[in-house]
Amino acid sequence: MPTAPEQPDRLARLLVIEDDPDQLELMTETLEDSLGEGCVISAVCRKDALGHDFQAFDLILTDYNLPDGTGLEMLADIRATCSTPVIMVTGENAVDIATSAIRNGATDYVVKTPDYIDTVPLVVQKSLAMTQMLRERETVHRQALSQLQSDVQRAEQEAATDPLTGLYNRRNFEKHLNQLFAECQRYPSNLSAVMLDLDHFKSINDTLGHQVGDDMIVLAGKTIAEVLRTMDVASRYGGDEFVLLFPKADAQTTAGIMQRLRNSFWNRSGQALAREVGLTMSIGIADVAGSGVSTPEALIAAADEALYRAKAAGRDCIAGPDFTMPRADAA
Ligand code: GH3
Ligand code: MG
Repeated sequence: MPTAPEQPDRLARLLVIEDDPDQLELMTETLEDSLGEGCVISAVCRKDALGHDFQAFDLILTDYNLPDGTGLEMLADIRATCSTPVIMVTGENAVDIATSAIRNGATDYVVKTPDYIDTVPLVVQKSLAMTQMLRERETVHRQALSQLQSDVQRAEQEAATDPLTGLYNRRNFEKHLNQLFAECQRYPSNLSAVMLDLDHFKSINDTLGHQVGDDMIVLAGKTIAEVLRTMDVASRYGGDEFVLLFPKADAQTTAGIMQRLRNSFWNRSGQALAREVGLTMSIGIADVAGSGVSTPEALIAAADEALYRAKAAGRDCIAGPDFTMPRADAA
């Protein structure tokens, strides 16, 4: 929800560029009467004005005939650094100057008629009110934009993750897989893929209920997340099945990580279910160097085939290209 734009209760800051001392005094008095004592800073020529930070002012009034340049040149100097509104004040009642001033970014133009000073506070206040309004509008736009950006970010995050475990979903996983596979080919290095499936998970749902089943999937996701390095990728592939990627790791190294993972999950699931025996998982591993695959899909298929071997070997088992490790053999 955008908050209300802030109201400025500070004194406006005006820069008046005027070389005629009488005019400058008259202008300063008039503006300070109208907007408050101390609101006017003065400069007597272009060079003098250039010593100021134009951005620090709410409004700049410049004379047209300056000793070292014209008001149009002054306007160009100001526009080169900021968008602070500028009012051109001049004795020259020339339409072409007025047109040029407005065309080059002046917000208003005041002609020094005999009683022009009476109109200055009005023109200045109008310009200040306009600036304030634009600033408020900009604040509201900025807030709306930042809200929109965070909504988009949240939506992207939701679209990319599995709601139960917070791991990547399958669609997003494939993006990472393609990217990591391309990288491991470009800068020759290894990449391991793991397919992991909980054993006899259906019986958890059937005996303890779907909610407990969900809790176990969440626990598996959490335990997986804990063994990952920052560059690793984990995704819930569907149901009780997960797929993991370990860049720069061979199948043997990955098997070591998987042993820690399944031991940890066995202990934690046993505790959570208040049982002596925890839940087990079957794990298939393949790596690019060992399997000689040439596509990301083939790497996943090789890990899936290893998972099939792990299940066929009696479950609770890690199978790789040239090894099979039942739990009893685990470190
Ligand atoms: P296996 O050892 O062969 O893997 O046996 P399994 O019982 O684990 O069988 P399988 O992996 O084929 O089935 C997974 C089951 O997971 C089937 C489905 O009922 C259950 N399941 C899938 N998604 C969810 C989920 O989001 N929550 C819960 N609680 N159960 C799910
Ligand atoms: Mg299963």
